[in-house]
Amino acid sequence: MVKAVFPGSFDPPTFGHLNIIERARTIFSEIHVVVAVNSEKKYLFSEEERVELIRDLVKQWDNVHVHPWNNLIVAYAKRIDARVLIRGVRNLSDFSYEFDLAMMNRGLNPEIETVFLSTDPEYFVLRSSAIKELASFGGDVSSMVPESVAKVLRSKFNS
Ligand code: ADP
Repeated sequence: MVKAVFPGSFDPPTFGHLNIIERARTIFSEIHVVVAVNSEKKYLFSEEERVELIRDLVKQWDNVHVHPWNNLIVAYAKRIDARVLIRGVRNLSDFSYEFDLAMMNRGLNPEIETVFLSTDPEYFVLRSSAIKELASFGGDVSSMVPESVAKVLRSKFNS
């Protein structure tokens, strides 16, 4: 019964994120998706919007839960007694960033292990930042994000 935390900005959630959650939920007993709230970062979607979007997308999976958090991720994991941090890796540059992050988190709490899941090839080009840019120019993002997300992206950039 190993609980895992999947942290990220989810600004907005994509099919890439959902694929990682769907696979991880069959390996771990519970997945806690933690939506980062960082006052230094500029997000397109508010904390409430990001939590609401992803909560709605994972509602069919009973062992997946979503929470906002504005502090260290290892502190959240410790608080709920989760032993694993899940990170998705698309390519070598993701890996080099994620590896440094994993080392830092390991320094903060060596009892929490980072587990990397490689992207499904179908989703390896999906990146929230690129999707926002594409949507801002009116591009079609329907193959990259669920319809609920495509809809809010359209309304953000039309207003
Ligand atoms: P992004 O890197 O897209 O801005 P986040 O900060 O929300 O997204 O990422 C949360 C986690 O999801 C990270 O571990 C990231 O590497 C992973 N992730 C994001 N997109 C994908 C994808 N297409 N395939 C696999 N993992 C992904």
